Amino acid sequence: MTSTAPDGPVSDDDQRLLEAVAGGFPAAVDDLGRLVRIPGIAWPAFDQSALVRSAEEIAELARDTGLFDTVDIERAPVADGDGDELGQPAVLAVRRAKAGRPTIMLYAHHDVQPPGDDELWETPPFEPTVRDGRIYARGAADDKAGVMAHIASLRALAETIGPDAVDLGIVLFVEGEEEYGSRSFAPFLETHAETMRSDVIVVADSGNLDSETPAVTVSLRGNAKFHLTVRTLEHASHSGMFGGAVPDAMMAAVRLLSTLWDENGAVAVDGLVAREAETPPYDEEQLRDETGLLEGVRPVGSGSILGRIWNGPTVTVTGIDFTTVEAASNTLAPEVTLVLSCRVAPGQSSADAYAAIERHLRAHAPFGAQLAFSEVDLGDSVLVDTDGWAIGEARRALSDGYGRESVDYGVGGSIPFISDLAERYPDAQILVTGVEDPHSRAHSPNESLHIDTFRNAIRSEALLLARLNRREMTSAGPIDDNGR
Ligand SMILES: [Zn+2]
Repeated sequence: MTSTAPDGPVSDDDQRLLEAVAGGFPAAVDDLGRLVRIPGIAWPAFDQSALVRSAEEIAELARDTGLFDTVDIERAPVADGDGDELGQPAVLAVRRAKAGRPTIMLYAHHDVQPPGDDELWETPPFEPTVRDGRIYARGAADDKAGVMAHIASLRALAETIGPDAVDLGIVLFVEGEEEYGSRSFAPFLETHAETMRSDVIVVADSGNLDSETPAVTVSLRGNAKFHLTVRTLEHASHSGMFGGAVPDAMMAAVRLLSTLWDENGAVAVDGLVAREAETPPYDEEQLRDETGLLEGVRPVGSGSILGRIWNGPTVTVTGIDFTTVEAASNTLAPEVTLVLSCRVAPGQSSADAYAAIERHLRAHAPFGAQLAFSEVDLGDSVLVDTDGWAIGEARRALSDGYGRESVDYGVGGSIPFISDLAERYPDAQILVTGVEDPHSRAHSPNESLHIDTFRNAIRSEALLLARLNRREMTSAGPIDDNGR
């Protein structure tokens, strides 16, 4: 972990900016509430017109900042499609850089995860509700607060120095299908490659060490998800007549799955690697608190806890097609299909990791059971270059905005499109930040946003924008007002 001490008191300019953030904060919370009430979900089973409405709302918010030369709602064809199928609407707003200033891309997404089981929500998922300093709703954190952090910090910038005095180039890019696999992301970048070209890219879709300690995300695990079908019989049979002489598919599947982990619950698949890197302290008590681990149930794996979460591989069974409890009969089942969701250590390619898991499963198939693999979905891990000038600015802005040292932080989750950005813009510095904290429960029932974290995230982003607006680019990077 590296950290940066706050840079002493902020300047008068910065102070005015922070006052503008404070003045605009109630409006930012109101606008967030309005966005949250639009249930924009990119899954085909949901009403897709909601995403059109939320894109329109966000385009309007972008126009109202008075900062952009153009604000458009665009769709691109999905990758690997027939060219006719379009992705969900994204908002693309652009202001050209002037006076040799850098261009910054501000990314967030306006689609959300499906709410899941409504019964598990304490208050309705699309009705923002404030309790104990948090706003509860699907998308309140992931990632409509990311959208509003961009909008609110742009408003503060425009209000403080006036839209005409902004020389910074700004590309606001709000995607509409991140939770559905960013299917048109790469084609979108290809179509708008020059318009979107930036020196610095802020991806506001991650989190912080805790609600008070800001973080720059410098590593994310990749993911590999697939369906595994295990077959042992041509048809079902009476479990009393033949049980004990032939294996049913579930028996084979259970024995096969058990080979994926060792007795400590650590992944035991040859060819899956873990990354060696130092991690901040984090004890078992905190893990128990944040995950709701039941009394008497032990954590799995070994080594530092954050090392396991940030830098190690995982294999998780997340779905199963089998007879339901209600319909169970005394039958030997011929076939079972499972969903396996794996996290891949930063640095290992997801294709490599998937190949290792498939190899392992084929080599361990018990009783000669037949295996079939399908629906393979891969996303690469991310390792951010931590030496760039922009990450230094980001750490400083976060430390000043939160009033607490920023930490470099790893994330166990995955944001696969970041590797698309890195590939398209190899010279750009990518800053992964966000509004979440460990209690946000993104993707789960009762998702929430810590209101103070949201305010501090906006303060930090406004400071970053204002400071980049004062920096002139040279071929070697930026120089500030004093030519440093
Ligand atoms: Zn997200």
